[in-house]
Amino acid sequence: MDRAEAKQWIEQTCGAGWLPLVDEVFDKVPPGIVIDEVFQKWARLVVRCTPYDEAFESYLHDIEWLSAEICEICGKPGEEKMHDGWMITRCPRHALLPRNRFG
Ligand SMILES: [Zn+2]
Repeated sequence: MDRAEAKQWIEQTCGAGWLPLVDEVFDKVPPGIVIDEVFQKWARLVVRCTPYDEAFESYLHDIEWLSAEICEICGKPGEEKMHDGWMITRCPRHALLPRNRFG
């Protein structure tokens, strides 16, 4: 998955709020590592890549935790909430907006 695909997917399934995080991840990919998947899981931004690289995995883990405090719609500080059976990360203003599941 390249940067453009990843950003398009995240924008469709979540919102624009996490796009800077996606950019940051792609800026920091070490040589030889390929991003396989970028998606939202349990209100967090999850990135899967190959081959395994301990330092980069630990960085991705930090990004995952960062995303849990950033509204997926607008990028402002947010928190994880349960909405309609889904875990989402939203700021107070977007807390009640329905989840943008499939674009
Ligand atoms: Zn928001």
